[in-house]
Amino acid sequence: MAKVENLNQQLKRYFGFDKFKGDQEAIVRNLLAGNDTFVLMPTGGGKSLCYQLPSLLMDGTAIVISPLIALMKNQVDVINGMSEEEGVAHYINSSLSKVAIDQVKADILAHKTKLLYVAPESLNKDENVEFLKSVKISFYAIDEAHCISEWGHDFRPEYRNIRPTIQRIGTAPIIALTATATDKVRTDIKKSLGIVDAKEFKSSFNRPNLYYEIRQKTKGIDKQIIRFIKQNAGKSGIVYCLSRKKVEELSEVLCANEIKAAPYHAGLDSATRSQTQDNFLTEEIDVIVATIAFGMGIDKPDVRFVIHYDIPKSLEGYYQETGRAGRDGGEGKCITFYTYKDLQKLEKFMEGKPVSEQDIGRQLLQETAAYAESSVCRRKMLLHYFGETYDQENCGNCDNCLHPKEKIEAKDALLIVLKVIAAVKENFRADYIIDFVTGREDNEDIISHKHHELDEFGSGEDMDESLWNPVIRQALITGYIKKDVENYGLLKLTAAGKRFMKNPESFMIVKDTEFNADDDDDDEMEGGGSVLDPALLSMLRDLRKEIARKKEIPPYVIFQDISLEQMATIYPITLEELQTIQGVSEGKAKRYGKEFCELIKKHCEENEIERKGVMRVRTVAKKSIIKVNIIKGIDRQIALDDIATAQGIEFEDLLTEIEAIVYSGTKLNIDYFLEEVMDDDHIDEIYDYFSNSESDNLEDALAELGEDEYSEDEVRLVRIKFISEMAN
Ligand code: ADP
Ligand code: MG
Repeated sequence: MAKVENLNQQLKRYFGFDKFKGDQEAIVRNLLAGNDTFVLMPTGGGKSLCYQLPSLLMDGTAIVISPLIALMKNQVDVINGMSEEEGVAHYINSSLSKVAIDQVKADILAHKTKLLYVAPESLNKDENVEFLKSVKISFYAIDEAHCISEWGHDFRPEYRNIRPTIQRIGTAPIIALTATATDKVRTDIKKSLGIVDAKEFKSSFNRPNLYYEIRQKTKGIDKQIIRFIKQNAGKSGIVYCLSRKKVEELSEVLCANEIKAAPYHAGLDSATRSQTQDNFLTEEIDVIVATIAFGMGIDKPDVRFVIHYDIPKSLEGYYQETGRAGRDGGEGKCITFYTYKDLQKLEKFMEGKPVSEQDIGRQLLQETAAYAESSVCRRKMLLHYFGETYDQENCGNCDNCLHPKEKIEAKDALLIVLKVIAAVKENFRADYIIDFVTGREDNEDIISHKHHELDEFGSGEDMDESLWNPVIRQALITGYIKKDVENYGLLKLTAAGKRFMKNPESFMIVKDTEFNADDDDDDEMEGGGSVLDPALLSMLRDLRKEIARKKEIPPYVIFQDISLEQMATIYPITLEELQTIQGVSEGKAKRYGKEFCELIKKHCEENEIERKGVMRVRTVAKKSIIKVNIIKGIDRQIALDDIATAQGIEFEDLLTEIEAIVYSGTKLNIDYFLEEVMDDDHIDEIYDYFSNSESDNLEDALAELGEDEYSEDEVRLVRIKFISEMAN
C-alpha cells in the first residue's frame, strides 16, 4: 500500500495545497487504512479531495459514483488538469461513444487510471460489471450520498442498487459523502450501503468565508442589484428568484444594463440549460438568474456572490443556495432581500396543500422570517438551526456583527416568558405564547383552552410588544428553552431555563430589525480594498480564458481565482516561484505555468515593478472597471444619465468619476451631451469663468456665477469640459 508517512507532501505535490482543510487528513488516513468511511461536510468543505488523494496513492482504480453527468466531466477535467500524465481520471456514462469507452478501458487495464467516475445507472449495467470484475478496485466512493434516501432532498432510486452491484464487482472499502443529512438520512445511507460501522466524520457547517446580509426589499431592488453586480464586475454570481417569470424579467433587465447574464429554470429546454451552465463555467456569462433548479450540478468553486431576490422557503434551502458561493474559501457574499409581504405570498401559495404539509411549510417559513428579522449574528442563528453551537461573540462577517445593535436588558421579559411556558404545560408554540403574554382575547385557541383564566394571562401586556419575538428567539439560542423535536415547534423549558426561573440573571438581547413596507434604503455595499495589481490580474484572467478556450475546459481548471490573485500580488516569474502560490502543484506549474510567468515578467519589466523577492505588494484603487466603462460610453456618445443608470450609480457619482478621469490626465469629449442639455450661453459663461479664475473650486464658482442662475451639475459639467480641453 501507499506511502502514507508524508501526506502533506503528497497534498502539495498533487494538488498544490499547503495544508488539509478540516478533517480531510483524518478521512484520507482512515480510507488509506482500508476502513469504511462516512463524511458529512458542507458544500465547499472539500469532499472530493477525501477520495481523490487516496485514489492517487493506492493501487488500483477507485470507482466514484456521482449522480450528475455534468459534474463528472468537470471533476475529471480538474484531476487531469492537475497531473502531468493523461488518463488519470475518466468517466463512463451514456454520453460516451464506443471508441471513447474502449480508450477508457484500455487506460484502466494499463493501470494509468486511478479514478473512474460513473453514474449509478452505468455502474449497474452488466457489461460494465463484467469488465470491472477484472479490475483491481482500490475503493468505492459514493458522492452526494443523500440521494440514497427518500428523506433526502434529492432521492434517486438507482442509488438503492449500489450495494448489490458492489457485491457483484467485488468488495472494497466504501466512502460515502454528503453535505446534507438529518439523522434519518444518515441511517438510511449507512444501511443501504451496508456500512453501519463506518467511521463518521462530521465537520462544522460553519462557512467562515461567507458574508451574510439581509436587506430590506424595496422598489429600488433592481437598481441595488445592478449596482452590486457592477461593483463586483467580472466576478461570477447567482441571483435566485422564486418564480420563472421573475427569472426571465430580471435577467433581461441585467442584460439591458450590459451585465452578462442568462436565465435558468426548469421550464427551459435541456439544451439551453446545459449551454447556459457551460457558459457560466467558462465565464462567458457572469451572472445566472435562476430558480432553485440551478445549483446542484454546478461545481464552480469561484462563485463570488449569491443574491436571493425573494426569501427562500426554508433555511435548509437558504443554506444550500448560499453555500454555492465561495467554495474555494475565497470571497462569497450572500445578500438576501426580505419583506414580510413575500412571506405572506408564500403562505398563500400553500393553501391548496394538505393541512399537515401546510403546517410544516409554515413552520419552515417562520424559521426563515426569524432569521431575517433578527439582529443576532446570522452565523450563530444558522448554525443553531443545524444543531451546532457557535460561541464567538462577533463573527465579523455578517451584517449584524459588522453593525451591531445596542443590547438591552430583558431579564424581566424572559422571566415572564418562562413562567408562561410553564403555565401552559410546555404544550404551545411561540406565536401562541406571545398572544398569551400580551393578553389577546381575540385568539380563539386561548379562549377554548380557558387559558385566559390563568393568572399569567396578559402578564406582559404593559411591555413593548416588539420585545417578545427576539426574547423567545434569543432564549432558544442561549438554551433557556428549546423546540420539541417530535412535535416540532412546541416550546419546552430546559434545565438552564428552570434554573433561571429560580435565580434570574441578566439577559441582554438585541431587538429585531424592523422591516417596513417601502422604505427606500439604498445602502452602499462595503467592498474591502484589494491589495493586488488589478491590471495584471485582468491580463492573467484573459490569458487563462484564452488557454481555457483552446483546451475546451473551464478556466478555473487551469488556475483558480485565488491563485491568479496571488500571482497579481506577489509577481512570481519562475516555475519554482509559481509553486509557492496556493493551488499551484508541480504538475500544474509545468503544464500551464510558462505562459503565466512570461506574462508576469513582461508586465513587471514594462511597468518597472520592483519585485522584492516574491513578496511585492501593491495597493491600487479598485474602481478602474467602472472608469473604463464610462470612458467607453462617452466615446460612443451615450447620454451621461444613461451611462449612470447602466453603471448603477447616481448622476453625481458619475460626475465624480468623470472628474477623477479628466483630472488624472485623460481627455474626454462630452460636448455632445452639453449641447443637448444646456444653453450655449450658459456653457460659454461658465467656461469663461474657469478660463479666468485662479481656482477650480466649485463653491467659489457657484457663488460667483450665482446659484439661482446655474445648477451645480451644470458648473461641474462645464468644468469637466474645461479641464479636459485645457489641462490635458
Ligand atoms: P465539496 O464537494 O465538499 O462541496 P469540493 O471538493 O468541490 O467541495 O472543494 C471545494 C473547493 O475547495 C475546491 O475549489 C477545492 O479545490 C478546494 N479545496 C479542497 N481541499 C483544499 C485544501 N486542502 N486546501 C485548499 N483548497 C482546497
Ligand atoms: Mg462535491
